[in-house]
Amino acid sequence: MAGVAAALESARAGLKTALIEKTITPGGLATTGLINIYLPLCDGQGRQVTYGISEELLHLSVKYGPGNVPVDWAHRQSTSRLYAPFSPASFILAMDEALTSSGVDIWLDTLACSPVMDGSRITGIEVENKSGRICIWAKCIVDATGDADIAFRAGAPCTEADNWLSIWAIGISAEQMEGTSGLELLDMYRLGGDNAGINVPQNSQKYSGTSGREVSRFVLEGRRLLLEHYKGRQESQGRNESFPVTLPGMAQFRTTRCIKGEYTLKEYQQDRRFEDSIGLVADWRKPGYIWEIPYRSLIPQDIQGLLAAGRCISSTGDAWEVTRVIPAAAFTGQVAGIAATLSAKSGVTPDALDPADIQKELAGKRIPLHIEDINQP
Ligand SMILES: Cc1cc2nc3c(=O)[nH]c(=O)nc-3n(C[C@H](O)[C@H](O)[C@H](O)COP(=O)(O)OP(=O)(O)OC[C@H]3O[C@@H](n4cnc5c(N)ncnc54)[C@H](O)[C@@H]3O)c2cc1C
Repeated sequence: MAGVAAALESARAGLKTALIEKTITPGGLATTGLINIYLPLCDGQGRQVTYGISEELLHLSVKYGPGNVPVDWAHRQSTSRLYAPFSPASFILAMDEALTSSGVDIWLDTLACSPVMDGSRITGIEVENKSGRICIWAKCIVDATGDADIAFRAGAPCTEADNWLSIWAIGISAEQMEGTSGLELLDMYRLGGDNAGINVPQNSQKYSGTSGREVSRFVLEGRRLLLEHYKGRQESQGRNESFPVTLPGMAQFRTTRCIKGEYTLKEYQQDRRFEDSIGLVADWRKPGYIWEIPYRSLIPQDIQGLLAAGRCISSTGDAWEVTRVIPAAAFTGQVAGIAATLSAKSGVTPDALDPADIQKELAGKRIPLHIEDINQP
């Protein structure tokens, strides 16, 4: 989400923009990873909080069906939040269309391997694909890998976190087949632990998701759990009544590694005003909780020419829970795209940009920067 939003923003501003994607589908966890729920752009108390490309992507997620953006989304008052489920396949097709028409140079099946450094400044990235190993030189690079892989390899200090075993997959059961709406087919099997560690299988350990061995173990253990689930269902219902349809094409880690930025957004900083705020995100779990995102949380320490976006911006604890989800990832992606554009045009690296210039661009797009800028409930 972050990479797509950053690429859309920068290409639309007229910059030569390459989007490097190791799979063959844009969208990361939201599409390839089958996490097909667009969480709210509102605070659950009648106030829209997040705008811009994040909102555009919400509409793209359901553009080619099924379902709609909930109309009463903004007005919901209860603690149970509404969400917009989408078909990952439809969303991928809609994103292909948007990226292509915006002039993004899309490199699929291409692994970003090593940053190319000139001292502490990143100047390019070595990528590998069917053509071999190639270097892409860039005035500015956005790390939207979800795991801060580029920042880490460039030598930026990073923070790691743990993940409970979990797997979401799309399956089908006889009840869904009898349904009249395609929406029913989007129902997920959600096995394993949630982020609070509830429903964790017995004897299951935590995974950091930052070593090759751990990623393989996490994925294989998740799939084993899913198979056990289907074996049980098929014994009672039959093989034609309940079966898996689509499995995630990337490991479903929530929080692996993020940058240690020039500022780290921390627990209990909802409602906190930041002079360099680049916009707002809502807490998807708690109605009324709104977070300002400081620009410095996108800037890695010690490295120039690089921005982080999405679930690898600098945040900890509760703040990471809020900034890692789809609407927030898309939002910080757009801001990284704006900063990259300003940096490429001015020759000033992102860490040395004046946040006021980014805020001016955001204000021109009618994106609120501070909590006091949005309508009262
Ligand atoms: C089990 C689970 C449930 C969740 N539930 C929800 C939910 O209900 N709603 C919600 O909004 N969010 C949910 N989330 C969180 C959300 O899905 C993600 O945090 C969010 O989509 C992250 O977006 P991102 O762009 O930051 O990163 P990612 O989605 O991780 O995208 C990173 C992209 O970079 C690519 N990439 C990585 N490394 C390289 C490389 N070296 N070279 C080239 N390409 C590379 C990847 O292929 C991917 O496309 C959930 C997450 C999990 C794991």
